[in-house]
Amino acid sequence: MGIWILNGLIVNANNEQTKKHIFVEGEKIAQVVDASEGVAPQTEGHDVIDAAGKLVAPGFIDMHVHLREPGFEHKENIATGTRSAARGGFTTIACMPNTRPVIDTVETVNYILDKAKTEGVVRVIPYGTITKNELGRELTDFAALKEAGVIGYTDDGVGVQSAQMMKDAMALAASIGMPIIAHCEDDTLVVARR
Ligand SMILES: [Zn+2]
Repeated sequence: MGIWILNGLIVNANNEQTKKHIFVEGEKIAQVVDASEGVAPQTEGHDVIDAAGKLVAPGFIDMHVHLREPGFEHKENIATGTRSAARGGFTTIACMPNTRPVIDTVETVNYILDKAKTEGVVRVIPYGTITKNELGRELTDFAALKEAGVIGYTDDGVGVQSAQMMKDAMALAASIGMPIIAHCEDDTLVVARR
């Protein structure tokens, strides 16, 4: 048994839209049939999704989201955040670490990943912070955070104010093949703090 996605629009590399019927079997696209002729394929025994008027695309990835959990669940949590992602076609989301506590320990990474597995509906990949508690004073344990499952390091929400600290962070991240995602903000140029 498979899934027929009928009458969906596919966008090709030239930004042209064509109407297709798509058959998915297991985890693979088994068949793509031209739907412009108006001839419906044999769908008996399969699930059918009517995608008329909709785009059919691979799952989107959002590299910068805020799930706000732990600490700010009144704004958003992993259950609601992943559901809104799925609703918009996003199947993988990378969550920023400026939660409370911030994602600066293996325990907090595990907390996010466990919650995502039990309450989330899309794949969640967390960032860890560059510095402990995002205070810009001391680097986190990059290797341990990587091992726990973070995909990069950022002090999102605040800029690392010391250039030396940022240089050290970049060198350390590069040495273990990981990226730094910078929140570029120099506090000496900020007129009013939010
Ligand atoms: Zn952000």
